[in-house]
Amino acid sequence: MKKNDQWFRENIRQVHIDFHMPEFPRDAIHNFNAQEFVSEFVRAKANVIGVFTKCHFGNAFYDNAVGHRHSGLKEDFFGEVLAEAKKHDIKVIAYYSLGTDAHAVLNNPDWYQVDEFGKVRGSEGTVWELPCLNSPYREELVIPQVKEITEKYEMDGYLFDIPYLHNHYCFCNYCKKKFYEEHGQELTPELLKTNRELVVGFGIDTAARCMKEIYDVIRKIRPEVLVNCNGAWRMGEPASVNATSDYGLWESQPSATGSFLGHSIRARHIRTLDVPVQIMTVRFTEGWGLMSCKTAEQLKFEFACIMANGGIINIGDQVLPNGTLQSGVYDIIGEAFSFVEEREAFCIGAKSVRGIAVIADNTNNWYHDKDDAATFGSAKMLIEGHHQFDLYYNNDFPDLTGYRAVVLPENVKLSPESAERLRAFVQGGGLLLAEGSATYSREAKNFALADVLGLDYLERTPYSFAYLTEREELWKGVARIPQLVEGEFIKTVPTTAETLSLIQWPLTVPAVNRAFRHPMPPAGLVSDFPAISANRYGQGTALYIAAPVFRTYWNSNHFWVRRIVTNLLDQYDTGKTFETDAPVHVEANLMEKDGKKFLHLINFQNIHAGEKSSSFYDPIESITPVHDIEVRINDPLIRSATTRPDGLKLETVATERGIRFTVPKVHIHTIVELSDNE
Ligand SMILES: [Zn+2]
Repeated sequence: MKKNDQWFRENIRQVHIDFHMPEFPRDAIHNFNAQEFVSEFVRAKANVIGVFTKCHFGNAFYDNAVGHRHSGLKEDFFGEVLAEAKKHDIKVIAYYSLGTDAHAVLNNPDWYQVDEFGKVRGSEGTVWELPCLNSPYREELVIPQVKEITEKYEMDGYLFDIPYLHNHYCFCNYCKKKFYEEHGQELTPELLKTNRELVVGFGIDTAARCMKEIYDVIRKIRPEVLVNCNGAWRMGEPASVNATSDYGLWESQPSATGSFLGHSIRARHIRTLDVPVQIMTVRFTEGWGLMSCKTAEQLKFEFACIMANGGIINIGDQVLPNGTLQSGVYDIIGEAFSFVEEREAFCIGAKSVRGIAVIADNTNNWYHDKDDAATFGSAKMLIEGHHQFDLYYNNDFPDLTGYRAVVLPENVKLSPESAERLRAFVQGGGLLLAEGSATYSREAKNFALADVLGLDYLERTPYSFAYLTEREELWKGVARIPQLVEGEFIKTVPTTAETLSLIQWPLTVPAVNRAFRHPMPPAGLVSDFPAISANRYGQGTALYIAAPVFRTYWNSNHFWVRRIVTNLLDQYDTGKTFETDAPVHVEANLMEKDGKKFLHLINFQNIHAGEKSSSFYDPIESITPVHDIEVRINDPLIRSATTRPDGLKLETVATERGIRFTVPKVHIHTIVELSDNE
């Protein structure tokens, strides 16, 4: 039975307050006062808060009978904050550190996770002391604590942090015992080399089973409470783990560990799901717990990206050692949440208007890998090219009715049934864009969609990069020279496809006696193989680019590659609902709600970075407004355009396919409400 998650969907001004607190600071928690604590959230207009019951150090922050309470805590931190929050109609999510607990392992060393070298996973001076979820840590501490917390307090939700074993495997005696009983063979580091899938699969099962046990305990006591484990419903997360989470959580830290486009890209995936998903950013400039604070301007931009694209805003903070919050931080969060409050009615519950479906893979190596470059590179390209798109995970794409085009990055993993669905999509008039090895099958030694693409796979090349020969209409905005793509090309043989650009080999592979000024020499011979091709198939068209343009774009930021690819899409994707001449740094996204359409325009501007290897944080200090953005809406039903939240009715001009208008100014986030009323 599905729980009522409406409150979670409607209250999108959420704060998560970390309180990982060791016991050595002499005045730890001494100044905690629930009333003052909660007054900061009230002042900042937060409507959901995440509050600690147990931290990474294993210290309990509630009135506990089980486990170890923080020695500085006089009475009850969680309970008092909960009671005070309820007075102000603020919902409370109980945070519990699952996969890290220093107190538990230091006092029960047999509960430690053990790595492939036989070493326990201890902290060595950091916060990370890792208990194994297959040890009695679960039976003797976690479950009894979850039971008493759930029985004692009326929380609205739960967040269980770190549901996984580190890297998804552990070689402790408890894991070895359970593994042998289940699989009839020894769990050894050698097995990790010879059958990694089995070992890692056991690790993922461990997380899923532990979360299932926790989920069922909570459901019996408080069936209405929404349960989550960190990472659930993020793109690529195992279904067994998702099944234990009523809402999702996808962490996203622009600049520090990711791109400023991260919120938008994540939201374009999670908005296609049936569960509400938090996109969690932080107040800190460079990672959890660094006691710095972003500007309000930056938070407004970040929050706009999340809410405009269908996500739920959540921002992380950290309590000071003395148990108080930094008031100055809530001045900033409050200013940014006021900005959200003015706009959220146009965003909450909105659905995206269908345009392009990007179907791609994403890692499930929780926390330990970066996002898939091909997936995020395709999304970056499409956002910068003002293409309307949603992001789907491999075979989990819906009926494609309403989509005009499908984009397949090289990493996509498709079943034969999914390939068949895409074949029918193009046959019926859809546009397909595939790149590199997308749909290539090692067994068949060809693309699954070779007939649709109108070409056959031949082989790989000796080069790790090559050039595209010029084609006038695709070179709009780029220099009329052979254009470099810093990735490996594929030789294909056209059957029915028309070649739009050829692969031009580099002059050479630099080696002894063949060195060149730059490690990537200029273009040499023009090959006979297509670099870009188009094929009519049924009523539709399939485009193919014989290089991993999306991955290389994410990794190199070579703008010309994006311009060529988006020029190609613009040429063939002729049925766009909106078109705009906005600059690359303005994101456009079209949503619908209550019979109206809402075009979101979000303006981005950061400052220069210094030394690239160390100053990886390039903050937003102020955003300069963009003026006079031209928009064409190709929908004959749309008659009027009004900017929100300021309510300015725009002058519109009728066009053959709808209307056009000029948005006079976009500072950070302007919403254009499109209506069929005059
Ligand atoms: Zn273990």
